[in-house]
Amino acid sequence: MTEKKEIRTRFAPSPTGELHIGALRTALSDFLYAKKNNGKFILRIEDTDQNRLVEGAVERFLKMLQWAGVVPDEGVVLDEDGKVSQDGECGPYIQSERLDIYKKYVQKLIDEGKAYYCFCTAERLDEMRKNQQVRKEAPKYDRKCLNLSKEEVEEKLKNGEKCVVRFKIPEGKTVFEDLVYGKIEVENSTVDDQIVLKSDGFPTYHLAVVVDDYLMKISHVFRGAEWISSTPKHILLYKAFGWEKAMPEFAHMPNILGKDGKKKLSKREGSVSVQDFKNQGYPPQAIVNFIALLGWNPKTEQEIFTMDELISQYDIRKVNKSGAVFDIKRLNWISAQHIRKMSIDEIYNQALPFLKEKEFYKSWNTDRETWSDKEKEEYIKKIISVEKDRLEKFDQIGESNQFFFSDPKNISSDDLRWKDSSDEDMKNNLQKAKKVLESISESDWELKNIEEKLLQAAGDKRGDLLFPLRAALTGEKKSPSPFEVAWALGKKESIKRIESVNSAI
Ligand code: GLU
Repeated sequence: MTEKKEIRTRFAPSPTGELHIGALRTALSDFLYAKKNNGKFILRIEDTDQNRLVEGAVERFLKMLQWAGVVPDEGVVLDEDGKVSQDGECGPYIQSERLDIYKKYVQKLIDEGKAYYCFCTAERLDEMRKNQQVRKEAPKYDRKCLNLSKEEVEEKLKNGEKCVVRFKIPEGKTVFEDLVYGKIEVENSTVDDQIVLKSDGFPTYHLAVVVDDYLMKISHVFRGAEWISSTPKHILLYKAFGWEKAMPEFAHMPNILGKDGKKKLSKREGSVSVQDFKNQGYPPQAIVNFIALLGWNPKTEQEIFTMDELISQYDIRKVNKSGAVFDIKRLNWISAQHIRKMSIDEIYNQALPFLKEKEFYKSWNTDRETWSDKEKEEYIKKIISVEKDRLEKFDQIGESNQFFFSDPKNISSDDLRWKDSSDEDMKNNLQKAKKVLESISESDWELKNIEEKLLQAAGDKRGDLLFPLRAALTGEKKSPSPFEVAWALGKKESIKRIESVNSAI
């Protein structure tokens, strides 16, 4: 009986910027697959391109993954104090700390005649490419240095000539089965003799990714579609090292497309980093749900998924080959559904930091010096329960109902008028509404009671009673119902507002 291979997926970002929403999608696929199969999700940092490193990027990546709930089990992780650390038996998990390992494997390829030193200068390579262009040939290294004798190579190395090491692509054809794209076939003659070791002693991505995926016992490689043309090179390296049996399965994730459905989603169209979406007040559950559905269809009616549901249902093999369009309206809808499912306390905790930044909140807060923190919290929670079903993002709290935070201004009789009722009627109706509200005691000040009593008093003339009341309480043409507004404002404030418009008209 063959032993079942442990499922080990990895996310291997280069720390060159912020975590892109497309990268989170790859990480999520890794995470879901590992969790579903009792495997491990590993995070490795690919920093072989030292010129592109961005300070603090690793920590920010990890924080964003943590925010999204896509937390690695092994590799580069955040420790209990939120500091970047490493955990696991296949480390180090940061490529710049593994240079000796790569050199050893490059040497092995050289010793076996599967790789060779190349001393060509940048000028010569430029010249070569230009000539190839003129001859309408695909740009490819012409193997000049493959013909150097052992002695010539040794001499040049002794003289300290600048050099790289190239992998000698063998003859033949490379075929693999991509879990998303299906069978891929490439003639090896079209593949360039890839550099595996750069002149600065760093490996290239191609060498490092193969050595690491092998040594870290990775069973599945999920990554962006831009890497699909690199995979044959990697497969050839696996073969050169004699590691065919340990070859992982590959799945390339189609691009996320911008509005036009053609070009890759770019910054020009708005947010692309996970941090941007967090800053805008999307709950992480919504982002995760939304990106899981990009290009994947569960083939049921279900559209709202918890992480556990995604773990059991998500299937990378069912991801659509064609790129998925990033539809912000869909994200907003999904986000609204997730917010609806949350408790008032949870929304309060998530939304308060956003609210605290708003000018309307700041001045309201300054004016409430006699209120205790508890009173303020209760008031905000009432507003949240009124707005909950209409919220798409946490930062929208209070935004379209600012009358909760300041007195309605300059209400004219026309603002209060229901159809063609007279000023007299309006006044009477406002008086009537006021009386109804006054008749409800503070302890009975519940939404249900307020609604019941007002509807009772309105009889079949709802608009006549409720329209001016709503306008008096809010000063707005559109708002939540007068019952909800009166309930949230409280008895005293509601009556005060009715009185102040009554004396103004
Ligand atoms: N370091 C590569 C990137 O940031 C990862 C590619 C891979 O997963 O193999 O896109």
